[in-house]
Amino acid sequence: MTTTERPQNRRIDVMVPGPFAGPLSYQWQGPAPEPGMRVKAPLRNKTVVGVVVSSQPAEDSELTSLKPLVEVLDAVPLLDDALLKVAAWMGRYYLYDASSPYLLALPATLRKGEPAVTQQEPVLQLTVAGQHLEAEQLRGTKQREALKIMQARGPATATTLRQWGVERAHWQGLKKKRFVEEASSVTTARAPTGSLSSPPLALTEPQAHALHQLRDKAFNVVLVEGVTGSGKTEVYLQAMARTLAAGKRVLVLVPEIGLTPQTLSRFQQRFTDSLVALHSGLSDRQRHNAWMMACQGEASIVLGTRSAVLTPIPDLGLIVVDEEHDASYKQQDTLRYHARDVAVYRARQLNIPVMLGSATPSLESLHNAQQGRFHHALLPQRASGQKRQRIETIDMRAQTHEHGVSERLRHRIAQHLGSGHQVLLFLNRRGYAPSWFCGHCGWMADCPMCDARLTYHRGRHQLLCHHCGYQTPPVTTCPDCQSKDLLPLGAGTERAEEALTEWFPDIPILRFDRDTVSTEKRLHQQLERANQDGPAILVGTQMLAKGHHFERVTLVAIVDMDAGLFSADYRARERMGQLLVQVAGRAGRGELAGEVVLQSWHPDHPFFEPLLDQDYRRFAEQLLSERQRSGLPPYGFLACLRSDSAYPKQAEDLLGEMASTLLTQPGIRVFGPLPAILSRRAGKHRFILLVQSAKRSQLHSALEPLVRQYSRQQRHLSWHLDIDPLDLM
Ligand code: ADP
Ligand code: ZN
Ligand code: ZN
Repeated sequence: MTTTERPQNRRIDVMVPGPFAGPLSYQWQGPAPEPGMRVKAPLRNKTVVGVVVSSQPAEDSELTSLKPLVEVLDAVPLLDDALLKVAAWMGRYYLYDASSPYLLALPATLRKGEPAVTQQEPVLQLTVAGQHLEAEQLRGTKQREALKIMQARGPATATTLRQWGVERAHWQGLKKKRFVEEASSVTTARAPTGSLSSPPLALTEPQAHALHQLRDKAFNVVLVEGVTGSGKTEVYLQAMARTLAAGKRVLVLVPEIGLTPQTLSRFQQRFTDSLVALHSGLSDRQRHNAWMMACQGEASIVLGTRSAVLTPIPDLGLIVVDEEHDASYKQQDTLRYHARDVAVYRARQLNIPVMLGSATPSLESLHNAQQGRFHHALLPQRASGQKRQRIETIDMRAQTHEHGVSERLRHRIAQHLGSGHQVLLFLNRRGYAPSWFCGHCGWMADCPMCDARLTYHRGRHQLLCHHCGYQTPPVTTCPDCQSKDLLPLGAGTERAEEALTEWFPDIPILRFDRDTVSTEKRLHQQLERANQDGPAILVGTQMLAKGHHFERVTLVAIVDMDAGLFSADYRARERMGQLLVQVAGRAGRGELAGEVVLQSWHPDHPFFEPLLDQDYRRFAEQLLSERQRSGLPPYGFLACLRSDSAYPKQAEDLLGEMASTLLTQPGIRVFGPLPAILSRRAGKHRFILLVQSAKRSQLHSALEPLVRQYSRQQRHLSWHLDIDPLDLM
């Protein structure tokens, strides 16, 4: 082609935001944008930002009906080929808007069309004096720490320094003393080195075996199953070192709540390679910068929560998914994807290994291991050599109890505190009490908008609906029997805290739940307080079950776990078993041995049996054979259609109509429409339809036309599809 020839017209296919089943086509005359670049495109009477998925020469006749693009935004593709394939697969698999995975892969700033550049930040570096300074010559410990980090890792922007744990105040202090200065040049892509800033531990035999199973430079999945404290993280770190040393980068996924400063610093302390963190606590600007660092290869390790699975990372060589069973990996609205499954698909596209780790692997992953699709490595013991012990049960039927805490448990708590240790009290609920109840006739306060009990919150003296947010002051007269004997019923975090304060007035009580620990900073503070010397009681919900180390806890008491026994959701028992094992794992993590007690009204329930031995494997096998008998996942494939409407008949009829269509398809079974477990929420009536098939492909071919046929938002009615649902609420 000579330069005088006019540029050829092209048809550009673009994923634009909206409920479309595929890309929309536009025409363009300039230099052709490549797949993975962003463009501005007209859509109805607006201009939107979309991602190019293909571009080809076309005849004028074909193009006349197409609108021209407004602008090409990027000079290089932001999403690489493998990611484009992953996004395309997510569109087909989760049957949501085709464009949603492409847009999910981008930070909000780039979705709005901002330029894909790192905000120009000055780079900070050590002056010659700073390079030769002995850290001990500095007085402040923080500045000393900052100097050591900068000496070990070299120049960096303020953002990067913060990722390394150096706050603005620390480097500014050094700058005032002329040990740090601003450099003129900006560093960009840096090759991973794998060099270590702290030495690896000598692996135990099971750890070495787990690491050995992972093959580099090929797609393979290793499921590392090991109780908390068995040394999974050490295995990840050594697998990562191998990858980094080969010049490849690493993506580490952690659950929503697992990305604590403790986790971050553990990864940071091991490697000199740069690391960025991507999580929901970042502002749009911070996220933009961290994302750009990942995308441009400035970071060798990307540590992030769910949506980080779609971060572009050049030369990605390994994906680690920690706590792979965790429900926070599944997005519960719009595009209902599972980040673990997406990670595995992405690794397959890139032909790289994946390491999944958990103390309580999902039944899906265990099944994959049994089928030989995943390697399975077991870390049977704590790395420190401690044995797991049987969980002791307290039969509530045979005990006097107050505020949900039995006499026996109270004595036990006193013993442990008396020896100067800490006690962790786990409650499966937040709020002062689950309900507001009439002590005379048993009436309980319900949410007028939902089919749910209201929860009493003492701090606010309010009844609150945890489903729709409805609030009301507590009624003082029973509407059924006019009695004035109204009181909160059952145990809750606040109530237990109050009772404990009364029983142990001199002991600090640290509460961990979404009310008290609403931000990461608060969590950090609470964790720090928990790691101080002296007796203390830690009271909390789910938040306490996740990977935190509590060195000083010797007694873990599970106050109530019975609710999951009788749930209508077939997943509830799996979740409850995982939670029990995870919570029990908080006992005796330090030098001190630990005990676990479980209060229950049904201590003989066969479901508890393997769990009391902390034998998750046997528990999981029982559940798996139940699932196999009923053709439930992972032995069959399941999707859930949910509808809601102010008019129950409309919601039910829509699913009824869908059910009849689905039943004409081969290999499909449907259950429902049924009212959802939470059958009313925020004034809307909710129905579900379960769609089951022994073959994944049959499930998808039956659902796809249906999804395209009905619009998701209709007058007074909305519905959505959830593939591989995690709960049936
Ligand atoms: P997990 O990730 O399974 O909870 P970690 O990797 O955090 O386990 O290990 C728990 C504790 O045991 C940590 O303090 C860690 O430093 C230590 N540890 C892990 N592996 C070893 C090892 N091979 N030798 C000695 N200590 C180890
Ligand atoms: Zn009453
Ligand atoms: Zn409600």
